[in-house]
Amino acid sequence: MRINVIRSSMPSFEEYTEAIKPLWDSVWLTNMGANHEELSRRLCEYLNVPNVSLFVNGHMALEMALQAMDLEGEVITTPFTFASTTHAIVRNGLTPVFCDIDPDNYTIDASKIEELITPKTCAIVPVHVYGCMCDVEAIDSIAKKHGLKVIYDAAHAFGVEYKGKGAGSFGDASMFSFHATKVFHTIEGGAITTADVDLIDKLRKLKDFGIKDEEIVDGIGANAKMNEFCAVMGLCNLKHVDEEIKKRSVVTKTYRKNLADVEGIRILPEQKDVKPNHAYFPIVVNEEEFGADRQTVIDTLKLNDIYTRKYFYPLTSDMDCYKGMFDSSLTPVAKSVADRVITLPMSASLTQEDAERICKIIRGCKGAGKK
Ligand SMILES: *Cc1c(COP(=O)(O)O)cnc(C)c1O
Repeated sequence: MRINVIRSSMPSFEEYTEAIKPLWDSVWLTNMGANHEELSRRLCEYLNVPNVSLFVNGHMALEMALQAMDLEGEVITTPFTFASTTHAIVRNGLTPVFCDIDPDNYTIDASKIEELITPKTCAIVPVHVYGCMCDVEAIDSIAKKHGLKVIYDAAHAFGVEYKGKGAGSFGDASMFSFHATKVFHTIEGGAITTADVDLIDKLRKLKDFGIKDEEIVDGIGANAKMNEFCAVMGLCNLKHVDEEIKKRSVVTKTYRKNLADVEGIRILPEQKDVKPNHAYFPIVVNEEEFGADRQTVIDTLKLNDIYTRKYFYPLTSDMDCYKGMFDSSLTPVAKSVADRVITLPMSASLTQEDAERICKIIRGCKGAGKK
């Protein structure tokens, strides 16, 4: 049977249809309906954050959070991420300045941020990539010292906690993605979490055309609201998310056990004080030590109907749309990880036997040479 890199979790058909039934009576389909409000409340509790603003997707949430902060100039960020992070910065008329990543967790290397700060720097946009927590303490203290805003891309970090605090409680704001491919989803969706109630108010207007009330439109907003059908999907999925994460943890454990001692395959160490969500399982193939390259591993798995991804390759700073604008040799760690990384299949539906078989095939590639 085909194994994909991810498989969306779904509530049962009956559970979802039962939960959307009341919409045929209320006929309140979007614009902050009852399910939207209920999901906001439940997510505040689950994510352990003071405020949640729901969005049509994670990207618009990030774009609008940056817009709401009235930023100008340069934003220090990571190139080892999904296109969305960099696009959100650029689409706000801001200039990304790429910082290298930490080889121990692939998040922005906080020790290299300060040397990139100029008089034009206005913010830092780090990414909790793969659900690994950034060095939030170091980043927040640099931001305070230099008067910078911090907006975390927490798209991968649903349910992750650091020292008992929700991943979304650091910096000025955090963005979560509820895309169908993420640990928790609303089909399409996203959110901003923040302690700043003024920011929540600005976002409420920005995602609804800048409308203040029936007769006053005092902001130039757009439309990025979450509809009721998506909110209901979220309410259903939230009931199962702990179970989902638990099943994923079995896959992680199996991968760790079976790949830890393979020379030339690097897996990330567990993070101290972090409650993980098992969103992804990246491995880095060191061609010299492993005796085979990344493509050989990917192709061999594919022959066995197992599909992986090169998340995240290329670096966003190397994407065609940014050609000639950035120099990825200035972020050598990010470049070397992007050139060699594979994310293995990860979902709650993957069995321990599947994970063991995947590891066996990977181990079998050792010394197989180059494609
Ligand atoms: C998924 C993702 C986004 C965008 O979220 P959408 O909900 O798909 O718009 C942003 N950043 C990262 C790192 C992501 O993985």
